[in-house]
Amino acid sequence: MHRALSLAAQGPSHGPNPQVGCVLLSTSGTVVGEGWHRGAGTAHAEVAALDDARARGLDVRGGTAVVTLEPCNHTGRTGPCAVALADAGVSRVVYAVPDPNGAAAGGAASLRARGSTWSAATFAPTVSSSCVSGCMLSGPGDRSSR
Ligand SMILES: [Zn+2]
Repeated sequence: MHRALSLAAQGPSHGPNPQVGCVLLSTSGTVVGEGWHRGAGTAHAEVAALDDARARGLDVRGGTAVVTLEPCNHTGRTGPCAVALADAGVSRVVYAVPDPNGAAAGGAASLRARGSTWSAATFAPTVSSSCVSGCMLSGPGDRSSR
């Protein structure tokens, strides 16, 4: 989750979309893909990480996605990440903060319906769920570690 948070910090610090980072782990626990959201209209962190894994030729099937924010479940300018993860064969998703956006929320329920296991990370000391728009990261450590 530390890695996902530092990836999220690479995203834009302002704008309508929150900073989100995603790390994909293989079944053996090695990192196979990393991604972060670069701003509205671009690929979400989860899709960027899937693309990264694909570019590296690594297999994400059966693996775990660690995301700083619950993957979205709506089709806006980009498709729903929950579906992208499920379709890629990711079997477990760990996220730090439930999606506060009503239109985008529900990704967890959607993926659960597709047979994946979802769990909210218990470790997220620097993430504040009450500060959701562009200020997901509040710890000075995460800012300096990028
Ligand atoms: Zn998304």
